[in-house]
Amino acid sequence: MCSACHNPGATLGCFFKGCPNKYHYRCALESDCVLVEDNFSMKCRKHKNKTLKAPPGSRWDDR
Ligand SMILES: [Zn+2]
Ligand SMILES: [Zn+2]
Repeated sequence: MCSACHNPGATLGCFFKGCPNKYHYRCALESDCVLVEDNFSMKCRKHKNKTLKAPPGSRWDDR
């Protein structure tokens, strides 16, 4: 189910492991997500400022 429009068929999952958000391509764009074309993935609005290599315990994005 798409996290934006709540319709089925969403195929784009957030690249962030453990993130349940999925979007349609169009919904991802409209929801201010960042597409990662390198691996055909995307970062949801919540995780677009995060990186996979963020050190554990980093709270800089937690506000
Ligand atoms: Zn959608
Ligand atoms: Zn996410």
